[in-house]
Parts: sequence; C-alpha cells; structure tokens
Amino acid sequence: MASTVNIIINGREIQAPEGMTILEVAKKEGIFIPSLCYLDALEPEGTCRLCIVEVSGSLRHSIRVSCIQEVKEGLIVETDTERIKRNRRVLMELLLARTPYSKELLDLARKIGVVTSRFQSEEFDDCVRCGRCVRVCRDQIGAYALCWVNRGYQRTVTTDFDRISEYCIGCGSCVQVCPTGALKMEDRGNERIIYKWGQILARLKLEKCEKCGKPFAPKKYLEHMAKKAYKPRGLQLVEIICPDCARKVERPVPAPEFPVGKMPFGF
Ligand code: SF4
Repeated sequence: MASTVNIIINGREIQAPEGMTILEVAKKEGIFIPSLCYLDALEPEGTCRLCIVEVSGSLRHSIRVSCIQEVKEGLIVETDTERIKRNRRVLMELLLARTPYSKELLDLARKIGVVTSRFQSEEFDDCVRCGRCVRVCRDQIGAYALCWVNRGYQRTVTTDFDRISEYCIGCGSCVQVCPTGALKMEDRGNERIIYKWGQILARLKLEKCEKCGKPFAPKKYLEHMAKKAYKPRGLQLVEIICPDCARKVERPVPAPEFPVGKMPFGF
C-alpha cells in the first residue's frame, strides 16, 4: 500500500498518498484550484501558472505551482490568499490579452474575478501557450509532430523547422485538447488539414471507405489505430471501412472474438 503524508490545505487536515501533487490532492478533496494547462491524462508541466498556491511548513514559505509540486509530510497549503488571488488575476489578464475570445478561458477568468484585461497584445494569435497540444501529441499519440520554439514572449508551438509535418498522423487529438480553438482540423475533399492561426501544420491524404467510397481518415491514422487496438488482440486491419459503414456491418450475436481478416475499422 502506498504510504501517506499528513498535510493541511486551507486549514483542513488531509491524509494524501505520497507522490501526489498538491493539485491532484486538492481535486480529490473537492478544493478548487484554477488551472488551464493541466489535464488528467497528460504529464503536468506547470506552463500556465494559474494553479499557484502559497506553501509553508515543511517547505520554505513561498509560492509554488501546485500541478508540479508534490505533497510532503507537514506541508501547509493556502490556495486563496490575497497574494495568490492578485497574482492569479494578473496572470489571467496576460492570457486574456492574447486570447480574449476563448470560452474556456473566459469562464475560468470569471471564476477568479477577472472580466477584462488591462493589457493589450500586439501579437494576437489565440494560443495561450498551455502546451496541451504538444504533450498530447508526444505522450498520448507518440507522434512528436508538434514542438515548442523560441523563449519568453516569442515562445510558440509549431512543427519541426516550421514545415508541414511528416510525423503528424492526422488524429486531431491536439485540436480536441486545445482550450482556445487556436488549432483546427478540416477535411477538404480527399485531404485532412491541421492548422493553427493560418499556418498549415500538416496535410494528409484521406483513405476512401471500401464500402461507400467516402474519403474519411488518413492512412497513418488507420495504421496507428490498428496497431493500438487490433495487434494486442491478435487481429489485423484488412478492410478500410468508415465508422458509418462499420456500424452497419452485421455481426453474430452474441459477438465472439472477431475472426482475423474481418475486423472493420471504426468498431
Ligand atoms: S493531429 Fe497531428 S499534430 Fe495533432 S495530435 Fe495528432 S499527430 Fe499530433
């Protein structure tokens, strides 16, 4: 059994599993700490800094980023001191200056008492630099198609050498996790395009469904799915069928193990 540590959050004594971060413990205990770059499924990187908290006790009295700070025996955490709230509001205003129309960001801003931003950005590109897209592509998909470039205010997400990526599989996961809509995916004719604020990051040819003839998914994506879903079960992808047609495929009831060679995509 994992050992536990005793900590105090906002005056409440809590027993938390060792190795957990302050943010994870707070979530588990129903204590709200705002965060933007954090997603349960991704490795935290502490990019947005909105989850800052004040710590003392077993750590030097300071401000820490709660999504990357692990709990320690005797730790005292304050999530909503005046100092923290003031710092968070400035951080939020800076994020809003660059991305004033994101619903997720605006909802979060309202929750922490920010309505508008005092700042104005000359470079307006809808990206809040949360890095969710880079991490999902790297850690969950394993494609490494996106990366960070430059530092400070110039920091941005792009592809290797700013060229159309040859590693992208066109899965759309980066688009799904983007909180601002800066990343977009579009199927145009027989091509899938992934783009960010006017810059095309990837374009992939769509494979046609063997049943209805509709172009529906890039080959690299189908191969990726086949490797993940079928191979561990001793199955192979031999037919390329779109999800709509796959739903119409008749299957014996109750469904036995699928015979090799008859596994439709999209099941
Ligand atoms: S669509 Fe391309 S860039 Fe986006 S997560 Fe998938 S592989 Fe990565």
